[in-house]
Amino acid sequence: MTNDAIPLARLAGITVRLHATWFLVAALIVWSLRASYLPGSAPGYSAGAYWTAAVVVALLFFGSLLVHEFAHALMAQRRGIRVLGITLFLFGGVAAIEGEPEGAADEFWITVVGPLSSFGLAALFGLLWLAGREVSDLLGAMLGYLAVINFSLAVFNLLPGFPLDGGRLLRALVWWRTGDPSRATRVAAGTGVAVGYGLVALGIARAFTGSFVNGLWLVFVGWYLQSMAEQYRRQDASRSRFAGLRVGPLTDTAPAYVRPRDPLDRVVQDVVLARGVRTIPVLAPEPEPERTPGPGGDGFLGLLTLAGIVAVPRDRWGATTAAEAMVPASSLHAVRPDDPVEDAVRLMADRDVNQLAVLGQDGAFVGLLNRATVIRHLEIRATLPPQDTAARTTA
Ligand SMILES: [Zn+2]
Repeated sequence: MTNDAIPLARLAGITVRLHATWFLVAALIVWSLRASYLPGSAPGYSAGAYWTAAVVVALLFFGSLLVHEFAHALMAQRRGIRVLGITLFLFGGVAAIEGEPEGAADEFWITVVGPLSSFGLAALFGLLWLAGREVSDLLGAMLGYLAVINFSLAVFNLLPGFPLDGGRLLRALVWWRTGDPSRATRVAAGTGVAVGYGLVALGIARAFTGSFVNGLWLVFVGWYLQSMAEQYRRQDASRSRFAGLRVGPLTDTAPAYVRPRDPLDRVVQDVVLARGVRTIPVLAPEPEPERTPGPGGDGFLGLLTLAGIVAVPRDRWGATTAAEAMVPASSLHAVRPDDPVEDAVRLMADRDVNQLAVLGQDGAFVGLLNRATVIRHLEIRATLPPQDTAARTTA
């Protein structure tokens, strides 16, 4: 869609493009303002004044859409995500960013600033309307229109279905609660399809109860939203080979480890600070003869976490051993190499941990499964299939 759009300007390093279909909307807005809204709310002006006012309002509406999309784009940039550009088209605007947000917080902040900026613009035009209507009826009608349209834009965008901002907020919420971006996508896409069909139904009802053009427009918008949501859901299902993915290949089989008698001060110096790790397996020192040497063959005693270390007063680090501060294996939830990754991710979310010990059938230590590794892996997988997954759009 961005390819057959006309580059218009470059602001803050972001290219703004106009899609040909946008001119249709612009013409419709100008025409409806000129033909009915402006003469209806501010009668008695010349045709020239109405035309000028209609064009100015359409331009300011266009500017308002840009502010909304720039809010998404600038927040994405601020969070270190590359912005591919902003395109205005038939149904509004999209800010395309590269890849998917890395976490629920990114998704939330990038999304929420859009509706917030539209509410802000509504408030601004509302205040200007209070002053402007004293100056002239026409100016009041123009500013009132802009306040209402920005307010409506914000509210409409908050409908909880993908690809609307509300759908993305829902996705961020589910993602945050479950730790599972794929499940979050399914939920938001599902509600998006429902919202789309809901608008189609509403549009049909309106078309038959008087407002034919508005009704028809709603049908179009609803149909477009539902097809976007459906497409997103299909894409996600095809890239979600999550189900077949096992813990084993994603396991870090050579993590930094400590021995049970190691004092905490040395652990902090040699492992926590030196290697930048927060979770350290504690392995028994005697390699059992039937197992291979190295961490893979040693007896797993428990996990020493940064929280566990910090719980010990600092002046006692020299006298406290790793074994005393660790969470023992018996009270940990470990996973097996052949467990589905999906289950492991759910377990991490439920227990609010970022690492799980991976143990073999016989209880031998295999390695650590890191949440970050899983997420990175899934994101790379999600990026790899071609189609248009490279550019994720935000409404
Ligand atoms: Zn938006």
